[in-house]
This record gives sequence, structure tokens and C-alpha cells, in this order.
Amino acid sequence: MTKHDWGPMLNTYPDSVGGRLSGLAAMLEREELKDAFTSLYILPSLYHSDLDRGFCVMDYDLNEELAQQDDLERLRALGIGLKLDFVLNHASVMSPQFQDLLAKGEASGYRDFFIDWNRFWEGCGEMTADGYIQPEPRYIENMFFRKPGLPILMVRFPDGREIPYWNTFYQKVWEENGERKYLGQMDLNIRSPRVWEFYEQTLARLAGYGAKIIRLDAFAYAPKTPGKKNFMNEPETWEVLERVRALADRYGLRLLPEIHASYGEGVYREIAGRGYATYDFFLPGLIIDAMEHRTGEYLARWARELVESRISTVNMLGCHDGIPMLDLKGLLSDERIEGLIDVLVARGGYVKNLHGAKNMYYQVNATYYSALGEDDRKMLLARAVQLFMPGKPQVWYLDLFAGRNDYAAMERAGKDGHKEINRTNLSAGDVGERLALDVVQKQLSLLRMRSTCGVFSPEAAISAQAEGSRLALQWERGDETALLDADFSDSSFRIAIRNRNTGETAFEFIQA
Ligand code: BGC
Repeated sequence: MTKHDWGPMLNTYPDSVGGRLSGLAAMLEREELKDAFTSLYILPSLYHSDLDRGFCVMDYDLNEELAQQDDLERLRALGIGLKLDFVLNHASVMSPQFQDLLAKGEASGYRDFFIDWNRFWEGCGEMTADGYIQPEPRYIENMFFRKPGLPILMVRFPDGREIPYWNTFYQKVWEENGERKYLGQMDLNIRSPRVWEFYEQTLARLAGYGAKIIRLDAFAYAPKTPGKKNFMNEPETWEVLERVRALADRYGLRLLPEIHASYGEGVYREIAGRGYATYDFFLPGLIIDAMEHRTGEYLARWARELVESRISTVNMLGCHDGIPMLDLKGLLSDERIEGLIDVLVARGGYVKNLHGAKNMYYQVNATYYSALGEDDRKMLLARAVQLFMPGKPQVWYLDLFAGRNDYAAMERAGKDGHKEINRTNLSAGDVGERLALDVVQKQLSLLRMRSTCGVFSPEAAISAQAEGSRLALQWERGDETALLDADFSDSSFRIAIRNRNTGETAFEFIQA
């Protein structure tokens, strides 16, 4: 791995800054942002998409209302590598494949590109009056549901029949001029050879955009078998990953499989053990927990595990989704996780559990800055800890700009719009104003440190120690040592990067 691989990565929608990707490129070209980031994760509304702000892809052409090839070239000229989404579990109702199916029905070449629910469950249940098979309880008792009810969308074929198709994630059905309209994230049938052709074409296209890292969105939902959990089925999920990796290798793409699972299940370990990069979805909660309990014990333990088990991660504070909570199960006690949720809710966070059963919330929706009580010192400490953790740090643009919970956007978005609390778009003017803030300038200085100091390399020896309210994270490479010495009792910290031989200090940062 090269040093570049562990440089900080900005994360935005194509229209998060200045309304278009050109606005983002202009921001990254500013002197203040120079050398802060080595890569950029652009969310999938970069492509033609509809629901779920991009995660319902129609096709992987650039969404020319938001992005042009030129913008990608400007990013390339800045030396910025891209991380892009490959949404392999589903495609939009508006995709050409699904539209072909709707237009031609039985005669469509895409008849099995998506999952006909009744064909899938044939022989496993009773046909209901509504025209879908209700699988026998024994087939679905272990199944993992993302939403209440069966994951289906009834679609109308040209011959007037209503056919249920598998739809794990969002759907939207409405009437317009007496006609039923629908949108939905339609699950793809990985048993269809055409789906695999589509996968290869997609990966080739993403490599052409300058992608280096491919985020495999919600990949664990792809393999499906009657009677199984239909989330992370084994061994099928690993087989799918292997097949995707073989394709990705042809285009020099590195895979980053995305999955939320509790720490206790150890899925992150297995992903890493099989040679993939993995997300560190534990860090956001662990940092806030450390601040609340005034101890770096769990963070030190997690850092050591990452080092000892050679787990290669992409980590973050905030992101386009909520702050993960369910993931922490098994790492922190349930009581402690509940306590954390209470703190985040008291600070304005919004909770939406997975589907009715309120035993443990999945994520809390909030900006990270608001989750920290809108406290600049805590924000800087959180950023410093993130940058000293092993892995590649990903930075949600609103965290960089100390964004607050956006309740108005959440209300505007209505039902299922809770994630909008942390997705405020910024104008070039907003960015200009916020760049003057101390909490922004200091984060940029820390990011520059992380991207330019050679000690922050995958070859460095990283160690972690916690004592009382203090946490020390140290990187050593050759003669260089970088040390973060933090105190969670008052959010003070010191960073020093020194050459042991010459005694020279390359970088120093003090929050007294
Ligand atoms: C993304 C979500 C999205 C879902 C469906 C997730 O993993 O992070 O934002 O709703 O996949 O594509």
C-alpha cells in the first residue's frame, strides 16, 4: 500500500457544495483546502438516480445536472482519487432494465434480471388474494427485514397482471391522473448472467471516472435463498464478493464492502481476514462514549485490535447516514449504548429504529457536531483522535464545517426524511464564511498534517495506551514519531511530530 492510500478523504454529495460538482472542485482548489485531502467520496447521486438521494440508480452515466466529465478532470488534476458507489443489490424502477420489463412483461429479456417474488418462493407458501406468495413461517422466521411487512413492490405488467418484485429498501407509490406510479430500489437477481454482465460494465465505467475505491453498497442483501436470513447468507455472500473482486481487479479497483452488523458478530473481522478493506463504524460512537465517560479505554482497545489483527479500515465521524449504534453491541455494554443514545437524543438527535421493535436503535440521525453538543473543543478532539486511529480517515463535509442539525430540512423531506438532518447543502458563500471559523481552520490544519507527514503511513508502527481520562496514540516510522496525548476530562490534547535523531519538531498542535 502507498502512503496515498491512507490520506484523508472528503465525503459529499455532488451538489453538497455550490450546487454542483464544479462547486466542490472549486472549493478543493482553494488555497485553504490545499493538501487537506488526497481523495473524495462522491455519493451516488453523481449518477442518474431517483430515491434515497442517489442509492436508487437508474444508470451509471454522470447526472449532467450535477456533474460533468470536466469536473472529474479538475479533481484528477488536484491529485484526488475517487471513491464511488457500486449499488449491486438494487436498481431503480426507472432503470432501462426495469422499464423494459414493465413494457414487455413476459417477453422482456430482463424478466429475471430482478427478483420475481412469486417465482422465488414457489412451493414455499400460499398465494394470497393480493397475488403474492406468503411464505410459510418456517421459511421466513430467520429472515432479516429492513422494513415492516414483506419486501415487495407490486408492479403491473402489460397484460394487466400485478407481479410482486423483491424490494428490500425504499419504494414510493402514488396516483397521477388516475394512473398508479411507482419508484423503488428493485433487488437484482444475482443468479442472472445478465446481472453479472451489468456488474462488469458498471465497474469498468466507474474506473473510467477515476475511481480507486469502490464502496459496495448494502452487498450483504444480494444473495437470497428460501429459509435463510437473506442478509449476509453464508457462504454465498463471500462467493459474491469474490466474484465481484475478480471483476474489480481487472480495473485496478479496491473494494470496500459496506455492512452494518454488531461488533459481537465479528463480520468486520471476517471481511478484513479475506483481504478487503472494511468500514470502522464503531469509531463514531466510541469517541462520543469516551467523552461522556471520560476514558480512552475502549478506543485504545479498538486501536490495538486494528493493529494486531492488521485490519485495514476506512473510518469516519459523521457520514450521509446516521451515527451507528447497533454496530457497538458487543463492544460496549447495552446499558452504555442506551446511555449514548439518550445523550444524542437530548442533543437533538433523531432516532428511527429498524422496524418497530424498539429494543435497540439502529442509528441516531444528527450532525456529528450537534451530537457533540456543538462544542468546538470536542469537535477538534474527535477529529484529532480520528486522524490518529489506524485507517483511512473519511471526513463528512458538514463535520468539517461544524454543521448543526437541520430540522427544517428534515421536516421538508417528510416521512423517511430523517437523514436530511445531516445533509444540508452549502453555497460557495457559506463555505467562504465557514472557512473563517477557528474550528474549521484547525481541522484543516490537522488534515494537512495527516496527509503530508510521512509518518502517517500504513508501514508505521501504531500504539495506543489509555490511563484514567487520558489516551495516547502514537505512530512511529523510521526516525519520525507522531504522538497524540488527549485528556477526555477537559478535551485538551497535544500533538507533536518529531524526529528522534535531530530532535526537530515537524508539527505541533496544542488545545490547552
Ligand atoms: C446506504 C444507505 C442506503 C442503503 C440502500 C446503505 O448502505 O448507506 O444510505 O439507504 O444502502 O442503498
